[in-house]
Amino acid sequence: MPTVASNRAAATDEVQVPIVRSDALTVLIGAGFPDQVGPTEVWATPDMAPHHNYEAVYDPARTSRAEAEATVRALLATDDLTVTRFLSDGFLTRTFLNKETGAAETFTCTPGCTLSHPQPGDRAVFPEDVYCITDGTSADLPAMGPECESGKPEEFRLLSWHFYTAHFSPRLSERIPHARVELFEEHWVEGLDPDALALLIDTVQKQVDELRGAHAALTALRAAHAARTEAAAPSERCPIYRDCDETGPHYDHSSYGLLTVADETGHDSLIEAGMVALSGETTRATVCLGDAEFQSAAALRKKTAEMRAFLDQVDQLGDRVFTDQQGDALNGPTKEAA
Ligand SMILES: [Zn+2]
Ligand SMILES: [Zn+2]
Repeated sequence: MPTVASNRAAATDEVQVPIVRSDALTVLIGAGFPDQVGPTEVWATPDMAPHHNYEAVYDPARTSRAEAEATVRALLATDDLTVTRFLSDGFLTRTFLNKETGAAETFTCTPGCTLSHPQPGDRAVFPEDVYCITDGTSADLPAMGPECESGKPEEFRLLSWHFYTAHFSPRLSERIPHARVELFEEHWVEGLDPDALALLIDTVQKQVDELRGAHAALTALRAAHAARTEAAAPSERCPIYRDCDETGPHYDHSSYGLLTVADETGHDSLIEAGMVALSGETTRATVCLGDAEFQSAAALRKKTAEMRAFLDQVDQLGDRVFTDQQGDALNGPTKEAA
């Protein structure tokens, strides 16, 4: 067992080392406007620290992301600066090969994601292995606990956090960007004198401030995610026919089998109704009922009225048939035979 004195010495020595995380250098990178060729410049963005320190734009039509990153690295290297990571400025659509289905699948990479995702040409992956992570920060503290195999206080990560989006999670709440925070228990920093305690508080405080920054960033990220989802949904719907099930830009509108009455097995339909409206001057909107087509509400209503009367007659037919059958079952020989 380490003595209190040795604990105190170790803790004090370690805690006096300031927690430096400002050495991480993050560059926000994204597509510029058409007149911005880039990256020819890298701008400092101290207002956005600690999430990114610099930003740069490039023209995706002329330069690949990898080339742009290499140029930015070279530009900053002239000032002896080394890039820790690049962050994307917006939502990027990514494609990968689904190992379960063999099909190409797309997802939207979360802005700020620091992972390089598999490309369609890469080997297939399981959808649950496709997720986005935005790296956060962590504090380090020397502490004594059950994980300390050396029997002395060891450095532990404290309150580290990151943002996580599991695009193919069975749980809906995990498919939108959320924070994960790493905690631990049963770890003690012992023998603290007032100065060492003050340093510990400082360290924890700085990390709590980071978490407050993470909170603001997550709130903004969620709002961007929601705005994108809402913007995508209505514009995909047909702007002309509310019953059309075509999505995206289209000229021929249709929804076959929009309404169905299933047969007794529940697998096939007895009758279906839907709509179609093809582009062209002479083509009119049509409602299909079974094999029949109607081009006005009046014509359709005339036929459905006939069908309602028909269905009443079908009911009556059934009543007669099954009444007669009951008689048959109860009385043995048919009425005619009796
Ligand atoms: Zn991603
Ligand atoms: Zn349509």
